[in-house]
Amino acid sequence: MIKAFTASTVAILLSGSPTSAQTIYPIDRAEILAGAQFDFKVEFPDRVDPARLKVTVNGTDYSTAFGQSGSFVNREDDKDQSALILRNVALSRTGSVTVEVSDGTRSRSVVWTVYDTGPRKAKNVILFIGDGLSPAHRVAARILSKGIAEGKSRGKLAIDDMPHMALVATAGSDSIITDSANSASAYATGHKSAVNAMGVYADRTASPFDDPRVETITSLAKRRLGLAVGIVTNTEIEDATPAAMVAHTRRRAAYDEIVEQYFAARPDVLMGGGAANFLPQTAAGSKRKDDVDYIARFRDAGYQVAMTKSELDASAAKSDTRQLLGLFATGNMDGALDRKFLKGGGVKKFPDQPDLTEQVQTALNVLSKNEAGFFLMVESGMIDKYAHLLDMERAVYDTIMLDNAVRQTRDWARARGDDTLILVLADHNHPNSLVGTINDDMGTTPNVPLRERVGVYEKAGFPNYPAPDADGYPSRVDVSKRLAFSASRPDHDETLRPKLDNPNEPTVKGEQADRFKANDKHKDVSGVVPRVGNLPAMTGASVHSGEDVILTATGPGSERVRGSMDNTEVFRVMADALGLAAAGP
Ligand SMILES: [Zn+2]
Repeated sequence: MIKAFTASTVAILLSGSPTSAQTIYPIDRAEILAGAQFDFKVEFPDRVDPARLKVTVNGTDYSTAFGQSGSFVNREDDKDQSALILRNVALSRTGSVTVEVSDGTRSRSVVWTVYDTGPRKAKNVILFIGDGLSPAHRVAARILSKGIAEGKSRGKLAIDDMPHMALVATAGSDSIITDSANSASAYATGHKSAVNAMGVYADRTASPFDDPRVETITSLAKRRLGLAVGIVTNTEIEDATPAAMVAHTRRRAAYDEIVEQYFAARPDVLMGGGAANFLPQTAAGSKRKDDVDYIARFRDAGYQVAMTKSELDASAAKSDTRQLLGLFATGNMDGALDRKFLKGGGVKKFPDQPDLTEQVQTALNVLSKNEAGFFLMVESGMIDKYAHLLDMERAVYDTIMLDNAVRQTRDWARARGDDTLILVLADHNHPNSLVGTINDDMGTTPNVPLRERVGVYEKAGFPNYPAPDADGYPSRVDVSKRLAFSASRPDHDETLRPKLDNPNEPTVKGEQADRFKANDKHKDVSGVVPRVGNLPAMTGASVHSGEDVILTATGPGSERVRGSMDNTEVFRVMADALGLAAAGP
């Protein structure tokens, strides 16, 4: 028994080592939608003789199986390493596919599964992503927006009140911890990818734009069914989650090129922040490195363009608006707590930003003009940004905003006879936990140390936020008994108080490059506790965590959402609801 274990461990180590065997993309155990396009690539660890090369797909020569011979690269990236690349291939026969590669000396094989879908069940698919939405944000949003008495919530969140629920595993091809790029890419393509990569398998070459591609659901929806496509967020529109619906790059920071890929793909509705990379470099606020004016390009291509909520309302009111570009800030838009109550962050600079619910309502109006149906991704993306910055109040308010957008969309779908699959999930977790309450009112003892103000177990009791307004938001967060969260952390000064002026900035760049230190802005706050971080010093914020995320679903096709699922299966649920496969003999 021990011997057998050792032998197989050695075999795994050998086959997984890049110096000992070929790397094949798509990777082993990839699941591929019948008819979906992908790039096939073999990376050889050294130079090989093409005459000795043998590549078969279920025993058939690869050029016959894929219908093209592709290109052989003798010295890839000017190194002694060969590669074989085929672009835009597809497989239509379903079942197990074994790919075997031999260079005459060494061989490697991978096994894929090609799957079919049933007949189309849903007219539309709407994917809501709460970026970094943890169960703690969810429970806090429920407490603040519904109220709780004697342990029982006074109401349900729309994101919770769904007929189908599953736990979704989020690991990527390179790590147990996922970022928003490879996570959203798994939802959008059904393939695993690596940190910072979307719509591709991250290969070994230096270029971030030549990696083997996999087709996105937006491409499939347009190409196979003529669906309209909408992408709505409140982060920069070039940020990883929205970009992964369309883009193919292993470098999520390539904003200029992501805008170019958006323009090539022409999603019918594109809304968020991030105007900076649409503006030519000469324009104020631009971050582009060239002179192309993408706002003008979209307008010339027939898009209505809105830069404020007022302009969005005007575009929405036009009956002939079928394509819409909305860019409401140069960077990220502001979250609900700043826009509605505190007026911090970028609100003074961009005072007329729409709420996510208004963006979604406009998107639904425009997209539903397409007779064939639509695919829409909606992201409440600042939950993640605030969680990174240990700004829990802002993260929770944007969870409430997500819930409002989902409730409104469910009402919209119900009025149409429930022809729309609605999915709500996070893309990855944050290591946030709800540990109790922080109690400022400690009776007659004035100098109680900060940590002793954290009420745990029965001392937590219930917080005293004011009753929520009609949209589910309490009017203030600086109450005397408020929710206490834990998180992973960089070095920072802990005040256990909400940040009322601007979103929290726990750290600043240190003297050494790539090292962060506590922001001394809060060092004089009464009772402040300097906290030593529990992360590497080059990490200036809290980080993502690897627990499963919660997926809830309703509408046609949602019955596939159950139990424990992999993130790649979320794509499969959507593909199945739309009947996207093109299976053949
Ligand atoms: Zn993040």
